[in-house]
Amino acid sequence: MSKWIEGKVVGKKRWTERLFSLQVAASSLTFVAGQFARLALPAAPGSEEAMLGRPYSFVNPPDGAAHEFYFNVLPEGPLSPRLAALEGDDSVWLLDRANGFFCVAELPDAAALWCLATGTGLGPYLSILRTEEPWEKFERVVLVHAVRHAADLSYGDVIAGIAAARPGRFAFAPFVSREPHKGALSGRIPDAVRDGRLEAWTRVPLTAENAHAMLCGNPDMVRDMQEVLEQRGMRRHRRREPGHFTLETYW
Ligand SMILES: Cc1cc2nc3c(=O)[nH]c(=O)nc-3n(C[C@H](O)[C@H](O)[C@H](O)COP(=O)(O)OP(=O)(O)OC[C@H]3O[C@@H](n4cnc5c(N)ncnc54)[C@H](O)[C@@H]3O)c2cc1C
Repeated sequence: MSKWIEGKVVGKKRWTERLFSLQVAASSLTFVAGQFARLALPAAPGSEEAMLGRPYSFVNPPDGAAHEFYFNVLPEGPLSPRLAALEGDDSVWLLDRANGFFCVAELPDAAALWCLATGTGLGPYLSILRTEEPWEKFERVVLVHAVRHAADLSYGDVIAGIAAARPGRFAFAPFVSREPHKGALSGRIPDAVRDGRLEAWTRVPLTAENAHAMLCGNPDMVRDMQEVLEQRGMRRHRRREPGHFTLETYW
């Protein structure tokens, strides 16, 4: 049976009014890059459950000193505004076991790994790409991050660090949909795959012969990308039936 362990907030970053990262010390909790924790705060009095919990992907690599979570505040949501209001040394609870199969060990071999994210779906890739695993398994790695406004392009320093550590093997493609932004693609990821703009930008083919794609974040992007990839003859990957893409939806 899983149980709650008490962690302490040891760091907090406010990227925008709606986007936050929390660093939480909870050293007994271990995980594999790509997995998620369940974060919780005490539920309102009279609730059925004592704790109000939600899943959040680990952003830090597994050997990090503190765990890090990147989330947006849903103003009407019961938990995310409360998480954003936490300050240093406040308590936050975590289930004592990490979960999920959105991990490199679950992927079949391919020449290139494509990591596609909307919004806070960037998180698990920042954990994965700061381990050795993807670099031992794939020759090239592409990271695609789609947001509405340029200010939502968080973690630029971490992404620059990954690029510097892997010269010639890493490509980053940011997308900004609601305003023009120099150095970013415009529009939505699925459209830019359909019309060839994304492969032209990264110079890495996104094909069944060459690539495995991971899709994370907004369920509309995941559904539309799934359709685009299937039109290219790519299949969802299952343990028993190896395929070409793996997905994780956040809601
Ligand atoms: C496996 C998994 C991993 C997750 N990891 C993260 C993560 O790393 N970071 C993160 O921000 N969220 C993540 N989520 C979503 C997260 O668990 C919460 O749902 C979210 O933080 C909102 O919580 P809430 O209690 O405030 O509102 P909820 O009642 O949970 O959600 C209210 C509504 O907000 C929408 N919504 C939920 N999550 C998001 C989101 N991230 N962006 C935009 N709209 C959303 C949905 O329409 C949902 O019905 C993950 C979800 C899953 C299933």
